[in-house]
Amino acid sequence: MSADLLHTPMPAFPLAAALERVDKLYGIIATEAIGLSSERDQLLLLPSTSAGAVVLKISNLAESAQTLAMENGALRHLATIDPGLPVPRLVRTREGEPVGSIIDGEGREHLVRVMTVLPGQNIEGRPVSCSLAEQVGAVCARVAVGLQGYFHPDAGRQIAWDIRIERSPAAVAGDPISARLTDARARIRPALAATYSLPSGVQHADVTLSNVLCDASDMVTGVIDFGDMHHTAAVCDLAASLTSVLRNTSPMQQAPWSELAGAFLDGYQRVRPLQPAEAAVLGHLLLARLVTTLDISRSRVDEHPDNRNYIVQWDATTERMLTELADLSDYELAHRFSRLAGMPTPVRSTGDLAERRARVLGGRLAPTFFSDPLRVDAGDGPWLVGDEGRYLDAYNNVAVAGHTHPAVTEAVVRQLRTLNTSSRYLHPAIIELAERLTATMPSGLDTCVFVTSGSEAVDLAWRMARAYTGAGGTIVAEWAYHGISTRTIDFSTNEWPGAGLASSDVATFAAPHAGSVLNHAEARRRVLAAAAVLEGRGHRPGLLIADPQFTSEGILDSPPDFMHGLVDGIQEAGGLFLADEVQIGFGRSGPLLWRFATQGITPDIVTLGKPMAAGLPVGVVITRREIADAFPYEYFSTFAGSPVAGVAGCAVLDVLADRQLPQRAVRVGEHLRAQLRELAGEHPVIHAVRGIGLIAGVDLRESAHGGGRVFAANAVEGLRRRLVLVGATGRGGDVLKVRPPLVWTEEHADRFVAALRAVLNNLSGR
Ligand code: PMP
Repeated sequence: MSADLLHTPMPAFPLAAALERVDKLYGIIATEAIGLSSERDQLLLLPSTSAGAVVLKISNLAESAQTLAMENGALRHLATIDPGLPVPRLVRTREGEPVGSIIDGEGREHLVRVMTVLPGQNIEGRPVSCSLAEQVGAVCARVAVGLQGYFHPDAGRQIAWDIRIERSPAAVAGDPISARLTDARARIRPALAATYSLPSGVQHADVTLSNVLCDASDMVTGVIDFGDMHHTAAVCDLAASLTSVLRNTSPMQQAPWSELAGAFLDGYQRVRPLQPAEAAVLGHLLLARLVTTLDISRSRVDEHPDNRNYIVQWDATTERMLTELADLSDYELAHRFSRLAGMPTPVRSTGDLAERRARVLGGRLAPTFFSDPLRVDAGDGPWLVGDEGRYLDAYNNVAVAGHTHPAVTEAVVRQLRTLNTSSRYLHPAIIELAERLTATMPSGLDTCVFVTSGSEAVDLAWRMARAYTGAGGTIVAEWAYHGISTRTIDFSTNEWPGAGLASSDVATFAAPHAGSVLNHAEARRRVLAAAAVLEGRGHRPGLLIADPQFTSEGILDSPPDFMHGLVDGIQEAGGLFLADEVQIGFGRSGPLLWRFATQGITPDIVTLGKPMAAGLPVGVVITRREIADAFPYEYFSTFAGSPVAGVAGCAVLDVLADRQLPQRAVRVGEHLRAQLRELAGEHPVIHAVRGIGLIAGVDLRESAHGGGRVFAANAVEGLRRRLVLVGATGRGGDVLKVRPPLVWTEEHADRFVAALRAVLNNLSGR
């Protein structure tokens, strides 16, 4: 509103005259008119007319037709964009015009509009509950989002209520509020400047308790009065609304202001999530709004004694709120509101993390990587950001699509914002994920059961196999890893030697180490020998579990012929074949998603996990319906198959497909292994380089050239010092496991090899 608007007296039509003109202009016959309070216009409520209840707005003489056109346009825009949003609708004149005019007794022309009346009462001055604060936040955001795409040139006008206008009224000596205002004006300047780079547009800018309507049960029924609209940052619009909610509380009242602010922001962010930079300035913008309110009322009160009550009605509560907020330091003001909006604020980093961890998480149960544990704070594609800077991640397959891939992260956050619940309700996301996964499987593997870890997947697969075959004996490779649960630890032969966990219903076969015969007959022989061991102990074999790349066993390349022999062997023995793709799956071996598929075998059951949902706990068992049906009871786990799990899994599949990561894994992996083989030529301590796609095993077994477990551990530590993260695996702990996110390019592979070269040079004293 221009300054003129605040200085020009409000129109004051006698009621009878107003009613007569409404009839003439609109054909609306009203019997009664009730005056409503306003800052500058004459507002008449006509509760019962031939057109129902309407409000007649007789505009201030200083109001421009342009401004009314902007308001009317906004109402039309909202009616189109968000038809359910309760805002007034414009009633047109007999001639079909949105704005009419009437002449007063002195021959001056006033612009008039008639609008529909929304149910409910404005809630200014009422106690505000958290539920109401949340609703006001939500409706404020809804108007902001609804107006996002709206434009009108008049929105650039100067309006007194714009909190970004610089004001410098003279300080009043001896007036504590005046001193507070002067101090606050200096404090808000940086935040106001910051708003110019924040999301902006034409804003309502006055979704305050005066303009929000509520029914008797405190449900919001409408938003009115678009008269303060102007172009500004969306967070300034939010600040006006939130200030009004907070100011409406009294110290005696139920919820403290921060609780109401939190509730308001919850409601707001359900509709329009804030950016961290918006939340960071919010506290100061509230101060700015309070300053603006007091500045305006102080400058106007003397000019308009007639409207004094209207003008000063918010002063006392405004001053109280100003005092409370101004008592917070700038740091507190920024962080308080960021926290209320759920933004990450600096993590308390006092004390030694390793020591604190050891105290509360530590012991043998909770090992970390590296002799001196590495702290990591962020991830980005192939990088992890840690103690010394950016580390090239050559280890973490969970981040198959790269760390914090924006498409995955956004999909998850959006779903979390909408709904996350159990799979007992119908929801499309997990169904779509199941459909997409089964579409990649051999025909017949048509049923998915979602779980929350690789261990749970293998555990369930075993229970299904036992139910289906009636046999509980299990065959696994020597030095395998299939999980941590009570059952799967028995299948994790690499955990046995130290812990003495061998179970009589589990037998092993020798994994396909190079050097022995690795054909169909040999594989079948190994399986049948293990089956015979089980039978000898009184257990019939029901399941053979194999990671098709034998990763824990030392990343062993297994010829398709050998894999076929394993499948045929176990089926001959009366059991099922489980391809445990928890580690190798999701495109790592490339160009297909599954390692078993490149070997051309058809498992009875497939287990997936680790990279499946970019770090969220999501796994799945995929099998034939008849096998799943043999399970004797239902299988339900609270977090398994949630909407977020579904969305995350689909997002990972999208990234793999859209960026062709499995195809890239083949190309980059071949490049990597070629470089590693070249390095092996320089360093005979490298006994062999194995792998497929983007998994490589650098075998550093003990030989005349050195090598062995300690050597490999030193190589891992040396690489870490060169900002490269890798692990060691295999029976001897002497195989470097290079298993990076699939976003690696040839450059990352070269960087890895260069670092390894430097480390080997160093370890061999060159
Ligand atoms: N199976 C295989 C082949 C694995 O590599 C792993 C984990 N490394 C698991 C099962 C167990 O998965 P989780 O850690 O999610 O329980």
